[in-house]
Amino acid sequence: MKVLVHYNEIGLKGRNRAYFENSLINNIRKKIKFNNLKKEEKRVIFDTNEDINILKDVFGISHFSIVEEVENKVDKILDKAESLMGDAKRLGLKTNRSDKKFPLTSIELNTKIGEIANNKGIKIDFSNPDKTVYIEITNKNAYIYSEKIKGLGGLPIGVSGKVLLLFSGGIDSALAAFLLMKRGCKVDFLHFHALRNNNEVMDSKIINILNILKKYQEEIKLYLVPYHNYQLSVMEKFDDKLDVVMFRNFILRFGQLIAKKKKYKGIGTGDNLGQVASQTLDNLNAAGYRVTLPILRPLLTFDKQEIIDLAKKIGTYEESIKIYKDCCSIISKKASTSVKIKSVEENLEKIDFDKIIEKSLEEMEIRKI
Ligand code: ATP
Ligand code: MG
Repeated sequence: MKVLVHYNEIGLKGRNRAYFENSLINNIRKKIKFNNLKKEEKRVIFDTNEDINILKDVFGISHFSIVEEVENKVDKILDKAESLMGDAKRLGLKTNRSDKKFPLTSIELNTKIGEIANNKGIKIDFSNPDKTVYIEITNKNAYIYSEKIKGLGGLPIGVSGKVLLLFSGGIDSALAAFLLMKRGCKVDFLHFHALRNNNEVMDSKIINILNILKKYQEEIKLYLVPYHNYQLSVMEKFDDKLDVVMFRNFILRFGQLIAKKKKYKGIGTGDNLGQVASQTLDNLNAAGYRVTLPILRPLLTFDKQEIIDLAKKIGTYEESIKIYKDCCSIISKKASTSVKIKSVEENLEKIDFDKIIEKSLEEMEIRKI
């Protein structure tokens, strides 16, 4: 069968178009075998025998359909359109011409199809159809179909570059990963854990969540770092109220180090503004002390309920809420709501920051999921 894939948004990106288009095609190829690929304006067409529902998980696709392809000749189009009317009672018509040399305007073509429909006792109804026939006319061909499947939208993974996500295994960072992928980022994951060793993480919900996210991004890299080096070195050194911000500063700066080494363009987090009392702009700012890479926080402005709804929709919610020994439950939650950069600086003087980074790096392991 023939499949037509639309990618409206990336179609708008001028000179980068070929690059975007090829990334999308490569990402589709990872999901589905196809041949006879054709590129037409803002769409690609190919033949496949596989289940195309899997395209619902590919970023960059606005919608897709199984289509009939005919030459862009009026009589051929009318024939096909008629064959798709089936048992419609109120028929909608959506015609779109990118070939302006086509002898009829969209309205004229619709009128002709309307006559055929009327002769069969089918009413044309643009506002409340029970079936719609879509016709897209390009330079050579016309594509005709009656079912349109919605895609995920967004941009093909990879076109925005690589991002390293600070991943806790909670609801927020899992969703943040999805949203960054949606904007074309290839997302890898950095996780600090409080388990006995890196291998134990491999049997935890962390891996289950990543396996769910693999639906959207085929290859995932996970950087695993034990939390104990940090924990032992800072124990009792900080005022309780600063613990959270100090830990955030450590993981952001550790992330930045890896990011710079491995050419990630930014660091992602699941941070939200005001979700808990400690998530203030002051605290986000203080936690970002000496972080110069962009910090990407796709959930910053979401309400908790919006986050939960979306996490359920993408399939990570149930795993994210499972009990897990995460570092943050060890850290005091009595965070001040307005930690000053100056306090972070002063606290850093009480510890050997470089040494903690060095030891943590020694124990870091990278796993391909
Ligand atoms: P999440 O649901 O992602 O855990 P949250 O709303 O519970 O987020 P926190 O747990 O306070 O908020 O963490 C804020 C962000 O810090 C997380 O979204 C994540 O990006 C990062 N983070 C927290 N803990 C870790 C960890 N153990 N390893 C890596 N990143 C972490
Ligand atoms: Mg959390």
